[in-house]
Amino acid sequence: MEIQFIGAAQEVTGSKHLLKVNGKKILLDCGMFQGRRKESAQKNDEFPFDPAEIDAVVLSHAHIDHSGLLPLLVKKGFNGPIFSTHATRDLCQFMLADSAYIQERDAEYINKKNMKKGEPMVEPLYNVDDAMQALNQFYGVGYDRAFVVEDGVVACFYDAGHILGSAVVHLIIHDKETDEQVRLAFTGDLGRKNIPLLRDPVVLPESDYLISECTYGDRLHESIQDADEQLIKIVNDTYKKGGKLIIPAFSVGRTQEIVYRLNIALNHGLIPDFPIYVDSPLSGNITEVFSAHPECFDRDTYKEFIDNRLNPFGFGRLKYISRVEDSKALNNHQGPCIIISASGMCEFGRVVHHLKNNIEDEKNTVLIVGYQAAYTLGRRLQEGQEIVRIFGVQYRVRASVFVINAFSAHADRSDLIDYIGRVKGVKKVFLVHGEKDQGLKFKDVLLESGYPDVVVPASGDVFPLNGDKLSEKFKRE
Ligand SMILES: [Zn+2]
Repeated sequence: MEIQFIGAAQEVTGSKHLLKVNGKKILLDCGMFQGRRKESAQKNDEFPFDPAEIDAVVLSHAHIDHSGLLPLLVKKGFNGPIFSTHATRDLCQFMLADSAYIQERDAEYINKKNMKKGEPMVEPLYNVDDAMQALNQFYGVGYDRAFVVEDGVVACFYDAGHILGSAVVHLIIHDKETDEQVRLAFTGDLGRKNIPLLRDPVVLPESDYLISECTYGDRLHESIQDADEQLIKIVNDTYKKGGKLIIPAFSVGRTQEIVYRLNIALNHGLIPDFPIYVDSPLSGNITEVFSAHPECFDRDTYKEFIDNRLNPFGFGRLKYISRVEDSKALNNHQGPCIIISASGMCEFGRVVHHLKNNIEDEKNTVLIVGYQAAYTLGRRLQEGQEIVRIFGVQYRVRASVFVINAFSAHADRSDLIDYIGRVKGVKKVFLVHGEKDQGLKFKDVLLESGYPDVVVPASGDVFPLNGDKLSEKFKRE
């Protein structure tokens, strides 16, 4: 029995780990690489294994860096089951289709250029049909329900508290050749305690091996309460100035979280009732998926909304905008308003247009609430650059720019230490889903805390998994 690390190994995207046991190959996550365009295109295009030989996929959650290559896996011959929670499956319905649409548009754009230069045409990485075929292979499973992945491999999802439907995965594996039993756990992306809407991460059962994310393994977030107060102040200040508050946010998770926080603030009379627009077709669909999965909500959400038959994502003067014309009409909106729009890093999508149209007016405010990767417009605004290029034109940043990091959906260093510390029996930890530096720093922290064996695997690294002989275990028990 062995595990091979393929993606999110010394980097943050492309989550993919391959478990081999009893002649079967089981893939944990099948995420897309994101980052510098050329490099990620190459990494996405080539699987270092034959997709037709994969027997099953176990998917931790719907974010594209964990699910985004499922349609390509299917296109290249994978015909087995994809296990996920019900909410993850429903989110993937929109996210994989949207991803396919982006791939098709990208290919179209490249082909237009290639045609002019007389160069050969390219194919999209995958199309909407591939995404739909992948959806057809999903098996939805509820939290805390054990299920058989393959003969000898039983898995169970527990709430990861990261986004709707997100799971930490626990596998009990019986290697029939050696008669050994191994308990392998995989955090996927781990959330934080007290994130609104979602439950706190559930502690994994006893595990021999733990594959843990470490995105923020070297950092501590600000307190959520301070962040809420900051958000309320920014909303009120923008309202008084009569400006627009533009919040770039990813369609899944952050958008619903901000809407939910604004809803609570309005209910409690902390912000004025003025127009709020969620401008992204995907956000509207994703919000419907959230509404359809109250089984994933925490007690507070129930008390505040579900028990009172209120919609946590619909209130006051909030509008979801899907048509392009309605999005463009926001340019002529008079008076103060809030616009929440994707993409979260301001690289593409409608938010780029809103920034272009509003960034030079000092009445307006831009609020950054998510991780901004290097070389993105979001990162430039976050860094306080005075002049930015948007669609090739230079704009002077006169709007106020604020950053709130505490709304991150990822555990920080102390959350991770606390979580890992509560999993019993761990004899080896693999740190994935973090830049190499973060991984190595967090490895030192774990070694100091007394974990004897911590590894930050590189892509391609293979490790044997050993456990107790089942026959001897029974004898002992
Ligand atoms: Zn995630």
